[in-house]
Amino acid sequence: MFSRKNGILFIEDVSTVEIAEKYGTPVYVTSKFQLEKNIEAYKKAFPKAEKLYAVKANGNLALMRIIASNGFGADVFSSGELYLSLLAGFSKQKILFNGNSKSDSEIEMGIQAGVKFSVDSLDELETIRSIAEREGKEIEIAFRINPDIDPKTHPKIATGLKESKFGLPEEQALKAYEMALRMKNVVPKGIHCHIGSQILETSPFISALRKLGKIAKAIEKLGVELDFIDIGGGLGIDYEGKGAITPHDLAKELLPVFEEVSSDLNSDPMLWLEPGRSIVGNTTVLLTRVNAVKRTHRNFVAVDAGFNLLIRPAMYGSYHRVVVANRDGGEEEIYTVVGPICESGDVLARDRKLPKVEKGDLIAILDAGAYGFSMSSQYNGRPRCAEVLVSGSKTALIREPESFGDLVARQRIPEWI
Ligand SMILES: *Cc1c(COP(=O)(O)O)cnc(C)c1O
Repeated sequence: MFSRKNGILFIEDVSTVEIAEKYGTPVYVTSKFQLEKNIEAYKKAFPKAEKLYAVKANGNLALMRIIASNGFGADVFSSGELYLSLLAGFSKQKILFNGNSKSDSEIEMGIQAGVKFSVDSLDELETIRSIAEREGKEIEIAFRINPDIDPKTHPKIATGLKESKFGLPEEQALKAYEMALRMKNVVPKGIHCHIGSQILETSPFISALRKLGKIAKAIEKLGVELDFIDIGGGLGIDYEGKGAITPHDLAKELLPVFEEVSSDLNSDPMLWLEPGRSIVGNTTVLLTRVNAVKRTHRNFVAVDAGFNLLIRPAMYGSYHRVVVANRDGGEEEIYTVVGPICESGDVLARDRKLPKVEKGDLIAILDAGAYGFSMSSQYNGRPRCAEVLVSGSKTALIREPESFGDLVARQRIPEWI
């Protein structure tokens, strides 16, 4: 999907130089082939599991439509993501509404749409009950359990440690299911956890599944019939080019444990997974143009994309591989690639060896498909950039770049000023 021809980086059969000329920079460019390859890897590794795509990783409708048409469901974390999922064509039976702080109106929208809920608190349970009763609906739920497991990832993306804001601790799970069982308009059907993101080992997933299995057995005794055990998402990707575990590796270790856990239950639950990053992460590059090269304390390469478009390096200290896209080879130097934002934290890549860079060169930031555009902002008065999809030798604009009009579209100046 990503290759060099005469030194130029190609995405499938299209030159990044041509993409930059045609669509301008900065621009997010996605390979449809790579996306389908990632989807296929999950289908092959987990043929019997329900796979819900975590929409927050990348909410582009064209990509979501491809994912939905492959039979995936959707994990949504807000009413906006629910709206996007329904529009993209995900079936409501396969949408799970997650979130630790859903507003009453978000819950109402989910209930009217008839999706399933992952319930994060007893307050939320009661809200769902009362709205479902008013709407005359029966809503299937899971509780999000906090399994207190260390996913061995960045602290800001570890979500299943006991001090985390997500989910109910094991000790409160039984009471929660008991309450739900007594409710007329709420049916507990599943159990859920999500322990974190960019996880590069299988053992945290196994521990989480065993923990859910233990709780599942206890809640079955209360009378819950489980349709699904959802162990969330979080499988990491190979940002550093050093190799990472694949869906196949995870399946090899996880599925035997799932068999063991479910054979110990009376019900016959399905395994659910919620991959985000591992579906879209490596499908996309952020193409950005060099505005200036400056040799001071460091060799700075100043490009036209910053943390307004890709916040992961600034927010989590994340590593993204960076390459010069318009040529290859020759003399190399050490560069720090920085964006145009008025913050010293606007560093995309520190101290990287690159072929000698000049103003006008194109830089590609790799593996930018997950938590890239979806976390972008208009900070510093910068309209968001375009997104382009490549398939073979075809390209399509899948999101128009924003304009200055978008900076002011919702602003109002009161007439008394
Ligand atoms: C973010 C999130 C996911 C996806 O995580 P990835 O690391 O992108 O796979 C899945 N489930 C829930 C509940 C999430 O919040």
